[in-house]
Amino acid sequence: MCLFCKIVNNEIPSNVIAEDENFIAFHDINPKAPVHVLAIPKIHVDSFNEVSGEMMAGMTQFIQKVAVELKLDKSGYRVITNIGEDGGQEVKHLHFHILGGAKLKWEHFSDADTKGHF
Ligand code: 5GP
Ligand code: ZN
Repeated sequence: MCLFCKIVNNEIPSNVIAEDENFIAFHDINPKAPVHVLAIPKIHVDSFNEVSGEMMAGMTQFIQKVAVELKLDKSGYRVITNIGEDGGQEVKHLHFHILGGAKLKWEHFSDADTKGHF
């Protein structure tokens, strides 16, 4: 069972801030902004590559609700999902980073070569 499935199952403790039948949101253990929350589906999905449109519809509403609960909706926030190797995904269970609580930076993400993609 993956790390985030264990969090869903309460086998690993987490600081939960919102939960419904299908999704759960908890504070990131290593915050990269004053507010850094992870929103995940309770069912295991590897990444954004595999998620259904139906699940994303529910996830969108859940993230919007979490942003209101965190009082980020007016000031603004950022939603990120990392996918696979180049995306920097470390935990192979779909999760959306919800970041806010300060004016966030927007840096270049890579100095590496483009691997011929562009
Ligand atoms: P990724 O790099 O896969 O997009 O993001 C994984 C995130 O999970 C990282 O921001 C990391 O700090 C967070 N994380 C890793 N292990 C744990 C944990 O055991 N508990 C919590 N709450 N967050 C974790
Ligand atoms: Zn999982």
